Amino acid sequence: MIEVRHLTKKYGNNVAVDDISFKVEPGMIYGFLGPNGAGKSTTMNIITGCLAPTEGEVMIGEYSILEEPVEAKRSIGYLPETPPLYTDMTPLEYLCFVAEAKGVRRDHIAEEVEDVMESTGITDMSNRLIKNLSKGYRQRVGIAQAMLGDPEIIILDEPTEGLDPQQRAEIRELIHELGSDRTVILSSHVLSEVQEICDRLIVISHGRLVANDTMENLSRSLQADTTMTLTVKATREEVEGVLSSLEGIKSYRIETSSGTETSAKVTYSGDVDLREAVSFAFSDIRRAVISMGIEEENLEEIFLKLTEGDGADAAHADDDNDGDNDDNDNDVGDDDADNDNDNDNDNDDYKPLFGGR
Ligand code: ADP
Ligand code: MG
Repeated sequence: MIEVRHLTKKYGNNVAVDDISFKVEPGMIYGFLGPNGAGKSTTMNIITGCLAPTEGEVMIGEYSILEEPVEAKRSIGYLPETPPLYTDMTPLEYLCFVAEAKGVRRDHIAEEVEDVMESTGITDMSNRLIKNLSKGYRQRVGIAQAMLGDPEIIILDEPTEGLDPQQRAEIRELIHELGSDRTVILSSHVLSEVQEICDRLIVISHGRLVANDTMENLSRSLQADTTMTLTVKATREEVEGVLSSLEGIKSYRIETSSGTETSAKVTYSGDVDLREAVSFAFSDIRRAVISMGIEEENLEEIFLKLTEGDGADAAHADDDNDGDNDDNDNDVGDDDADNDNDNDNDNDDYKPLFGGR
């Protein structure tokens, strides 16, 4: 349905997207995951025909987004990182305007706008000015806008960013509903945001694809490590002797030893359970395990590990990257005006979302 082939985008010497290829199959919800600055927005802007790649191509169904943008764009609804909302309009006025720009037939506009307002739960707000709506409702208007024209694919760039937990949950629910009869791709830099609702995850870091798999496979193949904290009535040498001869242990460290009592931290793969083996091994040498605690890595830590590879950015996945970059474009916390300015200044090839007709 979507095929991204060897996509590369350079901004001067900065390679924002580095030879990414992946396919998107119909009827699933995809999570597009990566730390701030990973290249998510750049990729999404290219897929949706808002930005030209340096190299590579994107097929939307049978159409190339570069060669046949009009046909290709017809199957995509897009909510960019900075929603293109006209805040002095009401949702009703704005959605009618977008429907017209998208080429929805005039005699269908009223009905379609009513439908998308209904499905996004903004009917009651239809006559308020967008600027007076909460961020959660504005985001719904943004999603409604993406749904106009009934595209088969909906692409949402960080749709829950900046929302409070209640609004996040509501938007997630809405996306889940959207996914019941459409293909949805949503980006996020927070694993837990996409964990529940996505069937598949595409993970990028520093512009490169690092994983593309189902949620289950990813968590299995990246099997988290388990850390066991252990105290044994034994000498350091005895504990070391047992731990070094046990199979399945990745590493261990002696934390403290009083001579007759020794504590150690033991790391092993999360898909095995070594609790029995460890306690039997010590009872074999007639030493008592007096405490044993288990700590499993959560998925958020696995995600960090996955994206850490070649840089320090991943360690700050939750931060704004202001200090690290000399431009402000990927500063998620920025207000609308700032982002718009940036786009105008350094993005000659950025095309507005709606054709301009
Ligand atoms: P993400 O959406 O994953 O946070 P982006 O796609 O916004 O990442 O950015 C990827 C990289 O490209 C970053 O290093 C960012 O600074 C850079 N970048 C993005 N847009 C521009 C631009 N218009 N001009 C120059 N560099 C840019
Ligand atoms: Mg982004």
